[in-house]
Amino acid sequence: MINIEEYDSQNVFAKILRNELPSNKIFENEEILAFSDINPQASVHVVVITKEKFCSFNDFSKNASDKCITSLIRGISKIAKKLNLSKGYRIVCNVGHYGGQVVPHLHFHILGGERLWQKL
Ligand code: AMP
Repeated sequence: MINIEEYDSQNVFAKILRNELPSNKIFENEEILAFSDINPQASVHVVVITKEKFCSFNDFSKNASDKCITSLIRGISKIAKKLNLSKGYRIVCNVGHYGGQVVPHLHFHILGGERLWQKL
């Protein structure tokens, strides 16, 4: 089961941040990095991560600076604009085992480029 209580520096996103693994970079600034998801669930599927190490949304919302939180939220809409998602998109953040989180480094998914299946 995923551990979101303690940061694991060997997770894949930590390796991407250290350039130990390749990524198709979409956007980067001081606080965040966005790259294409390796297993896309929509025509456009981008993962947005913080450069700072947070295990999960819980860790991020509790411990991130206001600057980092603002940069992530504003960054997501900048990225959506860059990707021409003017017809709309979905933002997903899976938290913990029941939430379907697999990689224990905070990330948001941006999904779009088509009419998305709707459950909620
Ligand atoms: P989550 O289930 O919310 O933890 O999502 C993790 C996401 O990371 C999945 O959508 C994976 O396809 C994606 N992923 C895993 N490894 C890589 C990688 N090396 N490059 C890009 N995306 C990845």
